[in-house]
Amino acid sequence: MIARGGKIIASLFHEVASLVIPGVSTADLDLFCDEYIVSHDGAVPAFKGLYGFPGSVCTSVNEEVVHGIPSASRILVSGDIVSIDVGVRLAGWCSDSAWTFVVGEVGNKAHSLLKTTEKALGFAINAARPGNHVGDIGTAVIAAVEGEDCKIVRDLVGHGVGREVHEEPQIPNIGHPGHGPLLREGMVLAIEPMLSAGSPEIRTLDDGWTVITADKALSAHFEHTVAVTAQGPKVLTTLESSFHAVSTTTATA
Ligand code: MG
Ligand code: MG
Repeated sequence: MIARGGKIIASLFHEVASLVIPGVSTADLDLFCDEYIVSHDGAVPAFKGLYGFPGSVCTSVNEEVVHGIPSASRILVSGDIVSIDVGVRLAGWCSDSAWTFVVGEVGNKAHSLLKTTEKALGFAINAARPGNHVGDIGTAVIAAVEGEDCKIVRDLVGHGVGREVHEEPQIPNIGHPGHGPLLREGMVLAIEPMLSAGSPEIRTLDDGWTVITADKALSAHFEHTVAVTAQGPKVLTTLESSFHAVSTTTATA
C-alpha cells in the first residue's frame, strides 16, 4: 500500500515537471498536486493539515530548505529552484518524497547543488540494507558530498514512514558507520538529504514553517520512501520496480 501511494507521487512528479516554468505560482503547483493526488481513489495529501500545515504539498524556493508554504504571490522566475515535497496517505499508509526542480535556466552552482544532492540520495538509499545501521546512511551522505562545494543541513532529518508520515527512527544525514539503530528487513524509511550551497545553518521564518539557510544560500532536497528488504533497498516512490537506487525523474525535467 505504501508502494501504491509512492507510485502516485512518482507519477505526480513526472506530470508536474512541465508546469514548473517561469510565471507559475507555488499555489498553482500546490493546487495541481492536490487535484492529482485526490484523483486517485482513496488517496489524500498527507501533509494537508499535518501539525497545522496549510498547503497540500511543501514548495521551497531557492534558500528555502523545506516546509515552504504554497502562495499565490510566490511567482517562480527563470533561475529559481523549487523543491516540491509530497506526502500521500492511501488506505491508512503514508509515503513521502521530494524533488527539486529547476525553473527556466539556472546557473552552474544550482546545477551542481542539485546533482550532488541527488547523488547523496542515491548513496544514502544504497546503505539502507538489513544489518546496516542508521549511521551508515548518514555516512553515505557524507561520502557523496565530500569534495563538493556544498554542505549538509544537519539539523533536519529523514524518518521512518508507515501509518504516520513521521515515525521512528530519525534518519540523520550525518553519522558514523555501524552507529545508530539497526536496520531490519521490513522497515520503511524516508531518506532525504538536504544540502546548502553555502552555510549548513538554518533558521525558521516568522510564518512558523519555512526553513531557510541562515546565509540565504541555495538549498536542494531530494527524498524517497525506501523499504529495507533482504534483496536490498527498494525505492517505493518510483515508477520502476527495481531494487537499484536509481531515480526515474530528473531534476531538469
Ligand atoms: Mg517529504
Ligand atoms: Mg520526509
